[in-house]
Amino acid sequence: MLHWMYRRLLPELATLERVIELGADSLRPRVLAQITLPGGTQLPVHAIELGSTDLRAPWVGYFGGIHGLERIGAEVVIAQLHSLVMRLQWDSTLHQLLDSVRLLFVPIVNPGGMALGTRANPQGVDLMRNAPVLAQDPVPFLVGGQRMSARLPWYQGPADSPMQVENIALCQCVNEALAQCTFALAVDCHSGFGARDRLWFPYAHKREPMTHLAELQVLTDIFVQAHSYHRYVIEPQSVQYLAHGDVWDYLYLQSLQRPGQVFLPLTLEMGSWLWIKKNPRQLFSRHGIFNPLIQHRQQRVLRQHQSLLDFLARAASSCERWLPAPSQRATLHDQALRNWY
Ligand SMILES: [Zn+2]
Repeated sequence: MLHWMYRRLLPELATLERVIELGADSLRPRVLAQITLPGGTQLPVHAIELGSTDLRAPWVGYFGGIHGLERIGAEVVIAQLHSLVMRLQWDSTLHQLLDSVRLLFVPIVNPGGMALGTRANPQGVDLMRNAPVLAQDPVPFLVGGQRMSARLPWYQGPADSPMQVENIALCQCVNEALAQCTFALAVDCHSGFGARDRLWFPYAHKREPMTHLAELQVLTDIFVQAHSYHRYVIEPQSVQYLAHGDVWDYLYLQSLQRPGQVFLPLTLEMGSWLWIKKNPRQLFSRHGIFNPLIQHRQQRVLRQHQSLLDFLARAASSCERWLPAPSQRATLHDQALRNWY
């Protein structure tokens, strides 16, 4: 491995490869794709599995770095993987948990964009606007996705062309993982929207509720009950804005084709305006808008989300204890409609 080169180009990738080496006994790493930078340098998209090898076991996917500028998202996911690797050396409750759940980490989905310091991938495409799902109502100008130019942000990519390499790799590995299981969760870590930390669930392309709104309501309830002091705003993304090409909407719609499967993909949007308010000079740095620049603040952000990421693995492993019975679903669905729509 080319640690010395990554350390300069993409320190998060060097850190991730170090964690993969540290966890060699318990991790099952593979490379989903190689991304070529303009100078010809290739960067791998790593996927790391751990836990149960039973393809029917509940599954949780942890994703970061889809937007290259939002480094803190990748760092939160790498920090969680590192914590698991360290705890596996002594924590028997973690070993028991991992007997019954499969975890997958893809901490840097867009290594090219991260190395170049751009939101988009090296082709100028915003990977969260690139999936073949079109919004059903007007989207905000530019932000909701545009096909005018790769030089403008939020570019969806050329019309009628396949998804970008990074998204094909992401969708293939998620669909493979979901092929045989009945319950799955995912969290995709971003930063930059607003002053609060938000947890979004589908849909992003329409205002109608998702099919599994009852399950989402109970997942929210058990999280809030166990974390009274949490500070997340939990809501459908469509409450904030509609967008074209959301890859989680696309994967969720595909999961509906697998009868009996419940797949709840979440997007964590860490509110970076707070960091800017505390350190206004960050506004003058492109990286500073999306990432906490001061070390103690970064450590706090990394720490803050660990209990959420732990919770998701435990909730998936224990899903049979809390998933609503068919007879409860209609009431829960109505309750969720009143809360969120
Ligand atoms: Zn983002």
